[in-house]
Amino acid sequence: MTSETTTPALLREAALVGGRWQASGEDGIAVHNPATGVMIGRVPSLGAAEVAEAIARATEAQKDWAARGARVRAAVLKAWHAEVLAHRDELAAILTAEQGKPLAEAAGEIDYGASYIEWYAEEARRVGGEMLAPLEPGKRMMTLKQPIGVVAAITPWNFPCAMVTRKLAPALASGCAVLLKPASQTPFTAIALALLAERAGLPSGLLSVLTGPAREIGGALTAAPEIRKLSFTGSTEVGSALYAQSAPGIKKLSLELGGNAPVIVFDDCDLDAAVEGTMQAKFRNGGQTCVCANRIFVQSGIYDAFRDRLTTRVKALKLGDGAEPGAEIGPMIDMAAVRKVLEHVDDAVSLGARLETGGTRASELGAHFVTPALLSGVTPEMAVFREETFGPVAPLLRFDSFDEAIRLANDTPFGLASYVFSRDMARILGAMEALEFGMVGVNTGLISAAEAPFGGVKMSGLGREGGREGIEDYLETKYVCLGGLEAAPC
Ligand code: ADP
Repeated sequence: MTSETTTPALLREAALVGGRWQASGEDGIAVHNPATGVMIGRVPSLGAAEVAEAIARATEAQKDWAARGARVRAAVLKAWHAEVLAHRDELAAILTAEQGKPLAEAAGEIDYGASYIEWYAEEARRVGGEMLAPLEPGKRMMTLKQPIGVVAAITPWNFPCAMVTRKLAPALASGCAVLLKPASQTPFTAIALALLAERAGLPSGLLSVLTGPAREIGGALTAAPEIRKLSFTGSTEVGSALYAQSAPGIKKLSLELGGNAPVIVFDDCDLDAAVEGTMQAKFRNGGQTCVCANRIFVQSGIYDAFRDRLTTRVKALKLGDGAEPGAEIGPMIDMAAVRKVLEHVDDAVSLGARLETGGTRASELGAHFVTPALLSGVTPEMAVFREETFGPVAPLLRFDSFDEAIRLANDTPFGLASYVFSRDMARILGAMEALEFGMVGVNTGLISAAEAPFGGVKMSGLGREGGREGIEDYLETKYVCLGGLEAAPC
């Protein structure tokens, strides 16, 4: 491990296969620090055989886990939550080393990730079916909520902790077993979380962390009839492929896919709050989040003032290795991400946008650093409007009327997050209702919370994670009709 702040105890170069830790050999997958390019360590390159082994152990372990009752499951999750918080700094250092985000953001992600474990430890005890109103004498109808069984989770690199806990915690709380395939760029945070779960008393075999080639492991997971559900967070392209792969086995799916988030800034807004909110919605994790502002619509009356203030804030952002104190924007995850950012900036400029600041490589810092950019005069023909940039580029568009803003904001096949800045209640309510997105932030750029349902509409996905809804996705409703009760009083 290259980072001096990391205690190597939690950095384990091994995968967890049905309760058995399998160490990586020299032929394992190398994981690199995106800021420095230095290798952090290796994880095993597993395949179909290990997936089968994990499924066999998970199938056994799941039955026992479900039978133990909600109170026991809640207690184990609470112990896991405590372990994660107790190792917050070590986990944050691992996360920054493999993902690149500034250490303070990484620590914030550990807290945020832990909050899902806590929330679902609490929700575990609130799962219940219902007794329905009797339809006729002699019959009773009821519903039971039961865990769906063995489930698979495939997670992305941008939130190596929170995307894992957001799936694992409700799955385990409901009584499911989980096979997790973390992103190959960021497996060490997931492995450390599994190690802490083991220490917290999670039964052996219930959780596997399977590292290796995504296509092969994804193929084995979707082909296995024992796996009844898949929860995936990542690109729409891969989500759509997994949807197709899951069709023959009629698996239940949760998909959290790409977004193309609009920010609508009305001229009656609190300008300072709108600038701050936009900064948060745009530049968190270097713009590498699926709820990042991708198109910023600003009403004509305040367009110039907003652009000038935002430009000043963007110019002041400190780019650097996430492990360095004060860094606000870390590296892009890889060269493909760097190329996409530069291509989007070039495309916009070639079609008439003005580059107010940034948008160039900062090679003196490392290969993956790009200076945060602001583009004004953006139009719907540009790639920055149509595609998710997933990088630190803020594209500004001018609008005049409410209807124009809503029409432009909804002009995308995606529908994950959206943001509105205004002090006019009628505008806020109108926008809230008209935006075709799963989430709307009003006068704030930070909307995610364990207590709230996170998810999208249209091509942004299926299902909700977090909130009361998040555990429902891991439960089946069984209906029971009890007949032959004529002797019973009504
Ligand atoms: P991103 O653009 O965020 O890297 P991806 O959709 O490529 O998004 O990756 C998200 C997750 O899906 C990662 O864990 C990745 O390894 C995995 N993945 C990528 N391709 C496949 C595939 N064909 N089958 C299963 N999982 C995949």
